[in-house]
Amino acid sequence: MRPNLEKMATINEPCSICGQTIGVDTNGWTGGHNAQPINDGRCCESCNWNVVLPERFSIHNEKINKETDDEYERLSKKNV
Ligand SMILES: [Zn+2]
Repeated sequence: MRPNLEKMATINEPCSICGQTIGVDTNGWTGGHNAQPINDGRCCESCNWNVVLPERFSIHNEKINKETDDEYERLSKKNV
């Protein structure tokens, strides 16, 4: 049995990152993805994985590194 894609509502907006139609994800989701922090629009599955998620992880890691650096600095000052 194959899924009836014709009956699913699809998002016909272009992806706000690559400009291609957002369409249907491999898991059947048709609503596109939040393109934050790249922009305020919607993006396709491919850009979600290749652009948006790596950007989110790198922002997250920078924040963690910054917090770790601050904590390290604070602890090292304490020992002086
Ligand atoms: Zn895209």
